[in-house]
Amino acid sequence: MVNAPTPLPPPARLGIIGGGQLGRMLGQAARRLGYGLWVLDPHPGCPAAAVADRQLVADYGDMAALAELAAGCSVVTFEFENVPAEGLAQLEAAGTARVHPSARVLETCRDRTAEKRFLSEAGITIAPYREVRSAEQLEAATVDLGGRCIVKSALFGYDGKGQRRIEAPGQARAAWNSLGVPVAVAEGIIDFRRELSVIAARSSRGELVVYPLAENVHERHILHTSLMPAAVTPEQAAAAEAIARRIAEGFELVGLVAVELFDTPDGLLVNELAPRPHNSGHVTIEAAVTCQFENHIRAVHGLPLGATTVAEPRVMLNLLGDLWGAGEPDWSELLGDPRLQLHLYGKLEARVGRKMGHATMPQASLERALAWSRAQAPAQRAMS
Ligand code: ATP
Ligand code: MG
Repeated sequence: MVNAPTPLPPPARLGIIGGGQLGRMLGQAARRLGYGLWVLDPHPGCPAAAVADRQLVADYGDMAALAELAAGCSVVTFEFENVPAEGLAQLEAAGTARVHPSARVLETCRDRTAEKRFLSEAGITIAPYREVRSAEQLEAATVDLGGRCIVKSALFGYDGKGQRRIEAPGQARAAWNSLGVPVAVAEGIIDFRRELSVIAARSSRGELVVYPLAENVHERHILHTSLMPAAVTPEQAAAAEAIARRIAEGFELVGLVAVELFDTPDGLLVNELAPRPHNSGHVTIEAAVTCQFENHIRAVHGLPLGATTVAEPRVMLNLLGDLWGAGEPDWSELLGDPRLQLHLYGKLEARVGRKMGHATMPQASLERALAWSRAQAPAQRAMS
């Protein structure tokens, strides 16, 4: 490739903005390869701090702290989209460290309106939608979209937060008022058969790899289980790969992009993007030859990417804070299945709906793990 940046092999130091579980697992992969690691996160003792050489305790938008991170690291990356894009753009302009993915990718994916424009312009099928800035506009959009819709805040959404479902135009005003944001998107409700996702990694040298599709089940708007590979037709696999490739190349992405998909009778439709490791990709730690975290680390340092092949299907079960209501869950019991792997993120406070860890296992083990999680049910009642 012309003008491909030189690879930055270990022991270069990586800087991650955000120190939650994604930063922690990115850090673990970086460590395994022999990279150094700094993380920037406002919460002392954040999950990634345990695997970092140093934590800069500062807000994501703290320009002095961001500059210090860039000065101390060869590459700066981020673990989630809710980082102020202006700060990243300034780092990029300063050129002290390489910034991957780019500020443009972050700007697009942190704002649903920009993301939908990008996808439409790339010729990718998405749900019909309208940008709305008032209760009147939302009501008109609901009528346009067939009398029902889901309205989502343009910024700062995750795990279904910042969303309202509207079943009739008359509900639009109350939904708008309770959302309380200046800009939102109203989407037509899609009667999908199931939810899928596909993750691509693209390196600074232009190499691109795509993981097999995952099938995702949500509960209370939070990812519950992911199975990889999903049972799909060769046509669906090819369609998903083409979508992921077009998005990664359209962005000239360096890093990962996860594409959330709805499987509909009319084909695959893109729900949303995440320019980072994705919860549905945690399963790749054990299932794939190279996990999503390692491929992100390789991609941003310009190293060759690793194979994404999955030999045996595995399923990931998220472990939410609900399980902690009666104290620490019984890990010995869960680990009684020798084919199961447990990942805990080192979060000190368990809250309902908070992602505390996950477990990965063969499909045949899922029933047993679900029974275990139901057996912690008194915990759920105690907490809610
Ligand atoms: P997450 O952080 O889990 O990805 P999010 O807050 O970013 O969630 P979305 O992915 O946009 O939100 O939506 C959450 C869930 O709501 C989807 O996974 C899907 O189950 C449902 N959903 C979203 N949009 C639609 C739609 N247009 N039609 C039907 N269901 C939808
Ligand atoms: Mg989503």
